[in-house]
This record gives sequence, C-alpha cells and structure tokens, in this order.
Amino acid sequence: MNDQPAERSDQASATDPRIRLLTFTRMVSPLAWLRAIATTYLVAYGEPRQRRCPACDFPVLGRGGPTTTITGKCARCRAPLGPTPWLLEFAVLATGLAVLSRVGPLQVAAYCWFAVLGVLLAVIDLAVWRLPHALTAAWAAGTLAGLLIPAVAQHRLGDWLQALAAGLVSLMFFAVLASVRPGSMGWGDVTAAGVVGIAVGWWGWWPLLHTLVLAYAGFAAYLIVTRRRRGPFGPFLIASALVIIVASASSG
Ligand SMILES: [Zn+2]
Repeated sequence: MNDQPAERSDQASATDPRIRLLTFTRMVSPLAWLRAIATTYLVAYGEPRQRRCPACDFPVLGRGGPTTTITGKCARCRAPLGPTPWLLEFAVLATGLAVLSRVGPLQVAAYCWFAVLGVLLAVIDLAVWRLPHALTAAWAAGTLAGLLIPAVAQHRLGDWLQALAAGLVSLMFFAVLASVRPGSMGWGDVTAAGVVGIAVGWWGWWPLLHTLVLAYAGFAAYLIVTRRRRGPFGPFLIASALVIIVASASSG
C-alpha cells in the first residue's frame, strides 16, 4: 500500500477505520502538532517554511490536523518527512517529566514551556543547523512571562530581574563571540544563549556558568568523536541548560 498512488491512499483513508483512528489520534495529540510544526521549519536558512509534503504536496498542517507520523513519514504518501522518528516525542516526554518532578508548582509553566520549545529548537537545529528566530522569540517571551508567576507570588522580583540580566549578559557574550569569529557561531545560537541565560539565570550566575562549560564540553566531545570541524551548538546548549535547571531545582 505504501507505494500506491496518493488517490488510492485517499480512498483507503476514507474507509479504513484504522487509518481514521490514526488520523484522529494525531489530531488530538500535542506531540503530533509539535512534530508537524518542527517539520515546517526543516528547511535551509533563508528558504520559506515547508508547509507541504515535497513528495505529494499534501499540507503538513491541514484542516485534518498534523499529517506527519511519529515514524518520520508523510501520512498520505509515506515519503520520509519531518524530524528523526520518535526523537522529538521521546525528548519532550523525558525532559518534561524531569522538569515536572523537580521544579515547584509555581515554576512549572515557565520551565515546561522552556523544556518543550527548547527540545523543538534542538531537534530542528540537529536536522538543519538553524534556530529560527520566530521560535526563539516565543521561547524567550514564554519563559520570561512564566517566571513572573513565582516572581509575583513569592515576592521574588529580584530573581526575575537577575534572570533577565543573565539573559542579556549571555546574549551579549555570545554576540561578541559571533562578531569576533564569524562562522564560529550563528546568530541563532546567540539568541538561544540569551533565552538559556534567562531560564538558568533565575537560579543564579553559577548555574549559568556551569551550563556554558557543560555545553562547550559536550560540543567539543561531539566534534572530536565525529571528526567534524563544525556542528549544531544549540542542542548542547539547550540540553546543558535543562540538566543544570533540574540539578539546581532539586538542590533547593
Ligand atoms: Zn506526502
């Protein structure tokens, strides 16, 4: 059935209860929507978002819901489409559970947002080596807004301002690196470092320093193991931030 023309697949989907159930499952699954959003960003820098399957031109996010499958295929024509199979879903669930089990109830909104969008950005960066500014802006705004909840409820406006300051310092530090050595770091990394600075800076300046050291150590190990000279830095930065946040939250 996989290699049949699209028309045949459509006929099948109209009658096959199993396909209709799968379509419904994707429609109501936040992870399926997240995978479809990631799919639209899997394009080279400067190119428009991929809103349709390149093989069969079916919308990735149509009225019928997300049409990318968890196994990394187009639900209509079965051509490979979207992020690595299972990776996004596994990473969101693992980081989401880690965050939920560690941070306090007032911080859940900020850090779940940070974790989910962080994973989304890391998965995109792994695939196409870019961190879209639109997603990073939403990532920053949601994290800052979410941290206002504990800042107001627990009278921790000082910590919120510290998070903001850490974000700005981190952003400027990476902006200087990117300017001094063009090509060593993309502007997507610079803005992502700003958001990481906000999320980790809430816990203090030392956690931010630990995050950056961990990110560089992981990235260096990756370059050595793969014998590459370049690679996506974002996933290392984001993973390090999540590790340090979980460690900082559980230590008080
Ligand atoms: Zn297709």
